[in-house]
Amino acid sequence: MEIKAIRGFNDILPNEIGKWQFVEESAREVFEGFGFSEIRIPIIERTELFSRGIGEATDIVEKEMYTFTDRSGNSLTLRPEATASMARAYLEHQIYSFDPVAKLYCIGPMFRYERPQKGRYRQFYQIDAEVFGVENPMVDAEVIIMLIHFLKRVGLEKLELQINTLGCRDCRPRYREELRKFLATKSFQLCEDCQRRLQTNPLRILDCKVESCQEAIADAPKVIDFIDGECQKHFDKVKAYLEMAGLSYILNPRMVRGLDYYTRTAFEVVSYQLGSQNAVTGGGRYDNLFQEIGGLDVPGIGFAIGMERLISLLPKEKEFIRYPHLFIAALGEEAYREAYRLVNQLHLEGIRAELDYEAKSLKSQMRRADKLKVQYVLILGEEEMKRGKAALRNMTDKFQEEILINNLLETLKSKIVFD
Ligand code: ATP
Ligand code: MG
Repeated sequence: MEIKAIRGFNDILPNEIGKWQFVEESAREVFEGFGFSEIRIPIIERTELFSRGIGEATDIVEKEMYTFTDRSGNSLTLRPEATASMARAYLEHQIYSFDPVAKLYCIGPMFRYERPQKGRYRQFYQIDAEVFGVENPMVDAEVIIMLIHFLKRVGLEKLELQINTLGCRDCRPRYREELRKFLATKSFQLCEDCQRRLQTNPLRILDCKVESCQEAIADAPKVIDFIDGECQKHFDKVKAYLEMAGLSYILNPRMVRGLDYYTRTAFEVVSYQLGSQNAVTGGGRYDNLFQEIGGLDVPGIGFAIGMERLISLLPKEKEFIRYPHLFIAALGEEAYREAYRLVNQLHLEGIRAELDYEAKSLKSQMRRADKLKVQYVLILGEEEMKRGKAALRNMTDKFQEEILINNLLETLKSKIVFD
């Protein structure tokens, strides 16, 4: 029987990898320009890190985690997100003792047991950026500015920044109670999951995609009407700093984030190209997460970008595949040896050169060169070689000229278009 990959787990193939590398390289460049450093964290953690950090009554912890017991009986979980692990690492290695402000990013796979469909997988990749140790709303805006700058940099358009505030642990309970009372009067309209959420996590109902639930929340009370003075001030400043940076945003009073640890600022960037799975990225402030996992009170803010969804939005016309620069077609045994010597020499100079490992006819070598979309073909014939010469063919305009083999490297460097 042929063994296939598990459903919801994807291979990223060589013809797609250029997009991934482009996105990752752009993220590194932009984030490091904003003073962020990369951190790499394990893919597996103790289950409590997520159940306490993300919150028991969230979709992720209730039904999406890949949890298993290892051979020593420990309950472990494949990370469903990166923030909790990054916070754990910050505490565990006392990163704060060097400087309380840590700007960190992380790129890698996450795992959630969800129903696989377009834009939703069981292993998917995220780019995460977090700032730990700052409560000032300046940093909320800074993180959003960096995010939008990055998304534009990779070529995304038709983006909409939505923001909201979720209040804090002092003012949110009052809102939560009002919302619960309101939704209790509509409970007949709610889906099965939301009936349960009504008791466990009524805010989550605002995020439900079921149509009857959407109708039920139409006139629901809004967080913004319940937040205290400090939260209001914080939100006003975030908006002012965004305006200062010339960023436009839409207030979405119904936006909540799926994880319990969020407080105050919440944001999402939505694309109108994506259909129903339209959130490319989401994030927000989480001033309670650290206390849940470690006892220290450290404020944090950050975002996670879904890489598959981001990549599906990249400009169609941009070329991401790196084709070989040169193909060397050799005629005869001696020429073939010379071709092999040249290919190896060119590789050391960063020129992507290929030859045919089967030493076939010129015609079939040219066909292969064509298929590989090389920029140039060097044709080595034994007669010309004796004169130290070979033919260089430009595969775009088909112009062919004789060149000196001794000058090959310089000639190629002046002609090849390097990506
Ligand atoms: P959704 O409401 O779509 O389930 P979420 O609130 O669970 O999203 P986050 O936990 O905030 O998402 O993760 C941030 C981003 O990661 C999302 O905006 C999305 O682009 C991506 N993402 C989340 N879950 C998946 C998945 N199962 N497959 C692919 N991408 C995902
Ligand atoms: Mg989700």
